[in-house]
Order: sequence, then structure tokens, then C-alpha cells
Amino acid sequence: MNGLAERQELIATVRKMNALGINQGTSGNASVRLGGGYLITPSGMAYDDLKPEDIVEMSFDGEVSGKRNPSSEWRFHHDLLAARSEFGAVVHTHGKGVMTLACQRMELPPFHYMIAVAGGNTIRCADYATFGTQELSDNALKAIEGRKACLLANHGLLAAEASLARALALAVEVETLCETYWRILQIGDPVLLTEAEMEEVRAQFTKGYGMPQGGK
Ligand code: 13P
Ligand code: ZN
Repeated sequence: MNGLAERQELIATVRKMNALGINQGTSGNASVRLGGGYLITPSGMAYDDLKPEDIVEMSFDGEVSGKRNPSSEWRFHHDLLAARSEFGAVVHTHGKGVMTLACQRMELPPFHYMIAVAGGNTIRCADYATFGTQELSDNALKAIEGRKACLLANHGLLAAEASLARALALAVEVETLCETYWRILQIGDPVLLTEAEMEEVRAQFTKGYGMPQGGK
């Protein structure tokens, strides 16, 4: 069995998704790069029951090793890790905030400067497709282009980062932004930041906000 530490970190990550309230039950999934392939959570298993040997190892040419079926969403994990070498880990959640906006098929505008953590001035919502399909993966990859996160219409969130810890932190941030945007819309339209203001935010982030050692 390859990558015991990575398997343990993957299990800890999906358990945290539920403990943090950004996902529930067996919804959601996560993956992390390992060697020339990646590890992914199994389909439909309770996170509290997961053991390292339940994690599925996959290669980019479709080889699968493990005793469980990989997540039904292995296609978007596979396609994202294959297409974007900067990503080391992918997290998918069904949080109440992201689902609220994803079911309206809403894009998040620059209503708060933290929108920039996902890599752009907006967080897009991918076109709808049935869960577990290649069409969903294709739509998701388009929506996450030039970004690290996107909503999935009538479904949830996709977030990718260099590490599992960072992907989880990004998922928490986007969940909070969605919940906040939903609240704001109860009382009216927010004042949006301009492109120039968002550019300044990006410049501050590029200076290395919060990560003097480059972060984990
Ligand atoms: P899996 O249990 O197969 O990973 O599916 C959960 C999910 O969120 C499907 O979109
Ligand atoms: Zn899902």
C-alpha cells in the first residue's frame, strides 16, 4: 500500500469537512497527488469508518488499485490534477452556503475582497450536468479555468490547491463567502469592488499575505 501518510491526511481532511459543517454524510470527496498518480476517497463510505486501505490509488492512464470503488467524481479529480500541475489536492463539498447559490446557478461577484483567494474577480458556477459524468468534469474544468474554485450548478463546490490543508481552507473560505453573499442579498445589492480595487488585493496576496515561509 503506497502513501500511508497521504492516505491518513486524506481521511483527516474529509472528516474535517463534515466536522466544520461545510459538508455532511457521504457527500463530497477529496484527492491528493501521489507519485505519478493520485489517491482518492472511496465512493459512498462514511468518513468516520475510513481506514487507509479504503483509499483508492489511481494513475493518470486509468489504472485503479484498492479494494473499494473510487469516488463517483473521480473524473473531475483526475482531469483537474492532470490539467493543472500547480494543484496537489482537490476537495469537493456540499455545503449549505455553496448549495444555496449553486442552485440559483449564481456566479459570485467581487462583493468582498476575499473573492480573490479563488484566483480571480469572480467565482464562476459551472453549467449543470449529472453527478459522476464526464460532462460534469468538462463543465467544471471550464468554470475553474484561471481559478482555484468554482460552484457546480445544483450541486456544490470544487476547490483545488497545492496541498490538502490549503484546499480545505479554500473550501471553508468559499463556503463562508457564499453564506455571506446570500445574507447580503436579503437586504439588497452589495456595493461591488472595482477591477482596480481587486487588482490591488491581488497585488497584496502576491506579496505573500500570511505565508512568510511560502505556506503549506
Ligand atoms: P462519492 O461518494 O461517490 O464520492 O459521491 C459523493 C458526491 O458528492 C457526488 O457528487
Ligand atoms: Zn457531489
